[in-house]
Amino acid sequence: MKKLTYLTFSLFSIFSFAQEVSKERIKTVLSTLASDEMKGREIGTQENENAANYIAKLFKENNLEYCTGSSFLVPFTYKGKTAYNVCGIKKGKTDKYLGFSGHFDHIGTSNNPKDNIYNGADDDASGITTLVGIADYFKNKKPEFSMVFMAFNGEEKGMLGSKAISTDKNLDNIYNNLTALFNFEMVATESAFGINALFMTGDEFSDLDELFNQNAANGLKINPDPYAAQQLFYRSDNVSFVKKKIIAHSFSTVDMTKAIHYHNESDDINVVDFDNLTQIINNFGKTLEKLSPKNFSPKYNDTVKF
Ligand SMILES: [Zn+2]
Repeated sequence: MKKLTYLTFSLFSIFSFAQEVSKERIKTVLSTLASDEMKGREIGTQENENAANYIAKLFKENNLEYCTGSSFLVPFTYKGKTAYNVCGIKKGKTDKYLGFSGHFDHIGTSNNPKDNIYNGADDDASGITTLVGIADYFKNKKPEFSMVFMAFNGEEKGMLGSKAISTDKNLDNIYNNLTALFNFEMVATESAFGINALFMTGDEFSDLDELFNQNAANGLKINPDPYAAQQLFYRSDNVSFVKKKIIAHSFSTVDMTKAIHYHNESDDINVVDFDNLTQIINNFGKTLEKLSPKNFSPKYNDTVKF
């Protein structure tokens, strides 16, 4: 009897602990993706495929289901060879989906004798870690929304992966029910708005940020895009879904006035603020828990160009 009580208690502890994503977990995932062994995850390389397989393993750990076919890996053709996006779903209480994405490829290696690996810790191992972290958060929960998690490949070569998967007919049943896509791009650092804050590209085109902020947990805040003149809304992976008239924005913490690591060999785990990233991921989870198709149905206004 004593044993049984202990077992019940332990299971309960594990269950309640699993609701919060730990900093250690965030560190493990991001550091693995941004490790030297991944050699900058350039599309077309073995290391790029290793990164895809690693993300698929994480999706399996999170009890996600396949988006299509019999694998988390969704193939497309790159220079006559097969490359992969990674896609997993979690069924919620309703058939309406929220999507979470980032890109796992980066720009490979250089000839710099001091450091020849573009680890891409911020760009965009941090984004992939965020969507994995959200899947972690909901591992033992059943949210109102169903969720689709997409790790895009080939972003650095012209958003190839997101273009391919967004036009993949096998995923139409998901896309037809996709309420909004959150694309995470460079979320490793403290934003110009401080910690526990991100900005959203194309904030002027929809009310997603307002609806999200109304429900935001623990002071998490989505801010307007301070770099709107750069039109990042039309230049990131979210645009493949904008073309389908799906609400899709990119979310970032990058401070353009300070980001000297952008597309530089110095974009490694030393630039990552793990406390801030862990906080953002958990607060995203807590906020998403409050969202349902009833209180979260963002719409574009007529200024957006599809
Ligand atoms: Zn990027």
